[in-house]
Amino acid sequence: MNTMTETAALAAADAADAGTVGADPTLRDRLLEKGILIDTGENGLYGRSQVFEDVVDRLNAAITYLGADQDPEVLRFPPAMRRTDFEDSEYLKNFPDLAGTIHSFCGNEAGQHRLLRCLDDAMQRSDDDRDTEWMSQQAPTRVVLTPAACYPIYPVMARRGPLPANGRTIDVLSYCFRHEPSLDPARMQMFRQREYVRLGDPEQVMAFRQMWIERGSLLVSLLQLPVDVDLANDPFFGRGGKIVADSQRAQALKFELLIPVANPDSKTACLSFNYHMDHFGGIWKIECADGSVAHTGCVGFGMERITLALFRHHGLDVNTWPDDVRALLWGDTKARIAHGLAGAGA
Ligand code: ZN
Repeated sequence: MNTMTETAALAAADAADAGTVGADPTLRDRLLEKGILIDTGENGLYGRSQVFEDVVDRLNAAITYLGADQDPEVLRFPPAMRRTDFEDSEYLKNFPDLAGTIHSFCGNEAGQHRLLRCLDDAMQRSDDDRDTEWMSQQAPTRVVLTPAACYPIYPVMARRGPLPANGRTIDVLSYCFRHEPSLDPARMQMFRQREYVRLGDPEQVMAFRQMWIERGSLLVSLLQLPVDVDLANDPFFGRGGKIVADSQRAQALKFELLIPVANPDSKTACLSFNYHMDHFGGIWKIECADGSVAHTGCVGFGMERITLALFRHHGLDVNTWPDDVRALLWGDTKARIAHGLAGAGA
């Protein structure tokens, strides 16, 4: 299934240093000390400073120019989705440990008195020692936190009826939630994913993914960050998950662009290129124009992760970043992206 460029990218990745030279485990402390990220006291949950958000905004603009010729439909959703759509997605089959559900108090007035008594008791103790008895009357709401930016769009696309002959390309951006508290600043519990999502026949989706492996690599090289594309798998849960992960690799469904950031044990996946085959098309009965089940794929840009990689490799003061990187982000972004695309033939 690999095309020539994917094979070349893999060979390049193998030739590159397989270790994590360049990762800096002190990055989190340095970012907090400088006030670029703001500590909330909870691992993986940070405030963002103006400097950090400015880089995210500029990256977003660059990604928009990178995909402008695809004429994507821009859609934005709040970071929550309908619980029934989430149930249908089979996310819980694969990643039950990462999901975040939203619960709310559903008791009566007597229940509220009980809640407040429990809360009073809990607050007598230290933060780490508090029990969650006050939550005993919390009940599931009809919404859950968005696990990946593209999830809300599939049911929406299905409701529109069959795809046009050349399929659809969607541009989404959302905060996403994953329950994996960590001291690695690149493993946040809430973070933004910018995605381009392709819905169409298998050839259209494969061509899209190939194009985005090239364009994603182009963006990262224009940012003067190390480019290393590799075959990958999602962190499927449990013993059965190992089989699913092996099969995902064997079919070369997922590639990641890895950059050393803060974790000394492994590089960080900053972009991912995913081919879902007919998984979402089948679940939501999304049809191509000819009545066949639609295939889907997406490219995801980890906005916080790319931003962190920039701070790691170019320093905490954006004014001292390399001239070409500064010009790409704060100067003639559109022209530089166009020039890069023309040069890469991408
Ligand atoms: Zn996606």
